[in-house]
Amino acid sequence: MMKKITDRMLSYLYLGTVGDRNSEVNQQLFVSNLFSIIGYSLTFVLGVSAAIGGEVILSISLFVACCLFFISHQIHRLNKIKTTYKISTRIIFVCLLFLMLYLVFSGGHGNTGPLWIYILPPVAFFFGGLRKGLVNIGLFVILVSVMLFYPGEIFLNTSYTHEFKSRLIYSFLTVTLLFGFYEFSRQKFISFMQKLSNQFEQQAMQDPLTLLPNRRAMQDYLEHEYNRAQRSKISMSLLLCDIDHFKGVNDVYGHNGGDYVLKNLSQLFTSTLRKQDKISRWGGEEFLFLLPETSASDAHFLAEKIRLNVADHIFKFAGEEFNITLSIGVKEVTKDISVDKAISAADKFLYKAKENGRNCTMPQRNTLDHKQSSNDEVQPEQN
Ligand code: GH3
Ligand code: MG
Ligand code: MG
Repeated sequence: MMKKITDRMLSYLYLGTVGDRNSEVNQQLFVSNLFSIIGYSLTFVLGVSAAIGGEVILSISLFVACCLFFISHQIHRLNKIKTTYKISTRIIFVCLLFLMLYLVFSGGHGNTGPLWIYILPPVAFFFGGLRKGLVNIGLFVILVSVMLFYPGEIFLNTSYTHEFKSRLIYSFLTVTLLFGFYEFSRQKFISFMQKLSNQFEQQAMQDPLTLLPNRRAMQDYLEHEYNRAQRSKISMSLLLCDIDHFKGVNDVYGHNGGDYVLKNLSQLFTSTLRKQDKISRWGGEEFLFLLPETSASDAHFLAEKIRLNVADHIFKFAGEEFNITLSIGVKEVTKDISVDKAISAADKFLYKAKENGRNCTMPQRNTLDHKQSSNDEVQPEQN
């Protein structure tokens, strides 16, 4: 029973929210709902009390405010409008602003009306942010000051002592300053956290040595590209490259030498491949390339280009010059196979390339299942 009531209250407070409840938009929606509910309950009670006390204009104003607060909550039911919170927060703020001005003008119940104006700064900053909040509050202070201090109190329907008026403005400005400072720190903190979260996200997707996308990032690319290829019905291809005898590089030049090769090689890959291709460090000295909208024969052509470029490249480390070679497995991802199957097929071809003596691409060009190559100038791969 208790749980049912709590769930009901929460769903009322979270009306209009979608997805992560802690997101900035959902927080705005939550606070807007909270304000609307408190607003229409309070203005309703005060409105009834004013009506009983015979204060007709005050009670009408409170009932109008009550209706507007109610609308600003119900507006969140409109799922079609994505930014309902912007409308509702504006309604709440304008409504509050006029209500406060009216309370200062009339003095409210027993001249206590101006005591409510301290609600404005937190609402203005939370809904409008620092800059907009300051502008709105500034405007309000000017209007209230004119009302309070205009000679003859012609903009007031009541009378306050001079001490009360000046202390009201001073204390209101102090509260505004404090909330402004709080909002400033909050925004700074949010942008710091956002930066940190972006940094973590990037680190989680990037190989720290080569700065290439890591396996996890590549899995995301693969999924995305696979779905696109399924829709467009244009195949993509995968290249799985492995450095030949890399253990030997480590043995001769040390681990730093090996690391240097991996970094240098990654730069070479980046400069050789096309803009749309994705390169990732798939494992230790293994790299997986995703070639969107590429047939097996074009992928083979690219694989050979990479292999020959790498074989020709001179690596210089600790005053010594040396070459390395690659073995490459190629697999076209047609619509009837999954990405996982395509990767394991590319892995099998890579294994074949190793068996075939390394420094080659598998399957060989003449065994590729295609009718007409678009790159006739390509020579069969050589070991
Ligand atoms: P193969 O031609 O059969 O591929 O032989 P290989 O020596 O390249 O392959 P093997 O699997 O025997 O050895 C891979 C080596 O790669 C072993 C491992 O220490 C090294 N390695 C993996 N990651 C890194 C790295 O980040 N830095 C360095 N320096 N070496 C690495
Ligand atoms: Mg290797
Ligand atoms: Mg390997």
